[in-house]
Amino acid sequence: MAFGQNPLGIHALCSVGSWSEADARRAISSAAQIGYDLIEIPMLDPDRIDVAMTARLLEEFGIGATISLGLEPATDLSSEDPEVSARGEALLSKVVSIGRDIGATHLCGVIYSAMTKYSRPATRKGLDHSVAALRRICDQAAASDLTVGVEVVNRYETNIANTAAEGVALCKMIGAPNTRVHLDSYHMNIEEADMARAIVETGDYLGYFHFGECHRGYLGTGSIEFEPVFKALAQIDYGGPLVFESFSSEVVDPQLSNILGIWRNLWTNGDDLIAHARDFMNAQIKAALQAEGLARPNFKGDTRYG
Ligand code: MN
Repeated sequence: MAFGQNPLGIHALCSVGSWSEADARRAISSAAQIGYDLIEIPMLDPDRIDVAMTARLLEEFGIGATISLGLEPATDLSSEDPEVSARGEALLSKVVSIGRDIGATHLCGVIYSAMTKYSRPATRKGLDHSVAALRRICDQAAASDLTVGVEVVNRYETNIANTAAEGVALCKMIGAPNTRVHLDSYHMNIEEADMARAIVETGDYLGYFHFGECHRGYLGTGSIEFEPVFKALAQIDYGGPLVFESFSSEVVDPQLSNILGIWRNLWTNGDDLIAHARDFMNAQIKAALQAEGLARPNFKGDTRYG
């Protein structure tokens, strides 16, 4: 898959705050009708997911799915306490099984530690627990062709992978062929010295990308310059999912919204938000393809050269 043919995705929390059948239908149907290829389903509590219903709706509307979560302190894979780490592994294993049963392509998010503000650095012992467990989770995921993306997030949400370089290092430690780095422009804007350079240096390790504004609201209303980001993705010929992630107090998931600190109303109409994000991403992709074609005439994304 080459840059320009990326599956475009939308995070379910742009539309709905629960995964009842009515909400799942609304989120999946609007994603499909607005022209997305996949929906990212948050799975912090897999017991809330009706697997058969989800699989049936994805089939009915003809779109794909990815799944994401952040662990909690009680299921922290990077805990020094082997029992806590084992609880995290059991949770991830359950999520992988759901991913298999709904035909998901990617499992991503903060799956290597809790998604929380830590008050001390990660320890070697905790990191070893996390890496060993993720190796087993990646093996299980590989049996269902699931790619596992470790999401690099800002310092207030993990103490393990805050930069793309740390994400690559974590992937190398795990060492599984289906492990990739999951980057997110919202987090990169906080932590990276140079977002475009970080993407280029991640290179083939990049396997999943979240687009979000500096305030996680409507695309184009914040301070992130997206042109260099898309140009960098074109430069490395990134062909994986491009997923828009945005949150507002308009749509509340009682668990996830509080963890992410979604206190403000940054938009009110989710359908308008996600239709605009699709147009925004398509325009940026097209411009980046053209720019890459000018810089590199043999670039395969440029259709003039077949
Ligand atoms: Mn994200």
